[in-house]
Amino acid sequence: MIKYDHVAKTYTDIPVLKDVSFEINRGDLFVLVGPSGSGKTTLLKMFNRLTVPTDGDVYYQGKKIKDYDLQQLRLKTGYVLQESSLFPNLNIQDNIAIQLEQQGVDKEQRHHRAQELLRAVEMDPQIYARRMPNELSGGEQQRVGIIRALAAKPEVILMDEPFSALDPVVRHQLQDLVLRLQKQTHTTIIFVTHDMQEALRLGTKIAVLKDGILQQVGMPQEIINRPATEFVKEFFHGHNFHFSLTDILDNGLGEKIAIKQTDLP
Ligand code: ADP
Repeated sequence: MIKYDHVAKTYTDIPVLKDVSFEINRGDLFVLVGPSGSGKTTLLKMFNRLTVPTDGDVYYQGKKIKDYDLQQLRLKTGYVLQESSLFPNLNIQDNIAIQLEQQGVDKEQRHHRAQELLRAVEMDPQIYARRMPNELSGGEQQRVGIIRALAAKPEVILMDEPFSALDPVVRHQLQDLVLRLQKQTHTTIIFVTHDMQEALRLGTKIAVLKDGILQQVGMPQEIINRPATEFVKEFFHGHNFHFSLTDILDNGLGEKIAIKQTDLP
């Protein structure tokens, strides 16, 4: 459904992505993981054309991203960033519904959809609909950021380190929320993180990047059991990996993937 085909990116002679190829299926929660500066955001932004490859192409449903009408492409795509990107001068309800307004949906329906989404993430519309973004906690703002991305029923949602500024408890709750919403809506998600625990917890498929080079693409258990490079092995097993892998490999669908630490290579 999505194909990155020999993609490269160079900024003023400095290569930041080198010959990266992978495919994403419909309904995947595809995680791009790697250290800071490894090229994850650059790859993500190629999908909604905030950046263009210097070489190679990205395809969506068999058509080159560069051949899409930009507005059509952006309508198909939700985008969630690390810092709240809510419009500070719009209340929560209008923030959620703004893309629907651009699509010509009438006010009553927009508000209905916004309130329905708020309820879906356990935020009572009576309390939250008319609040301003600065009257919400960081976690609540990201919650709204996620439902805003879902409001226009996009086919693909791009998430760029959406939870890295949040404390571990809230981060965990929002990871659960993403798993639940994705299961309900079957939206394809590309999720960027530098946090390996987050990658293992969320990903149906994981791509590991280092210095612009794709190290491995696979399901979480493949990455853990059969790391393709020394880097992948170190990255996932290196430091203080004392938490239970069975715990983080709970994919939120009630199916624990039974990998014990004794199974590790
Ligand atoms: P990550 O998301 O993995 O942290 P990025 O994709 O943001 O990595 O960045 C990859 C590399 O590209 C970094 O070295 C970064 O400094 C560089 N880079 C990103 N955007 C630009 C830009 N607009 N101009 C020059 N260099 C950039």
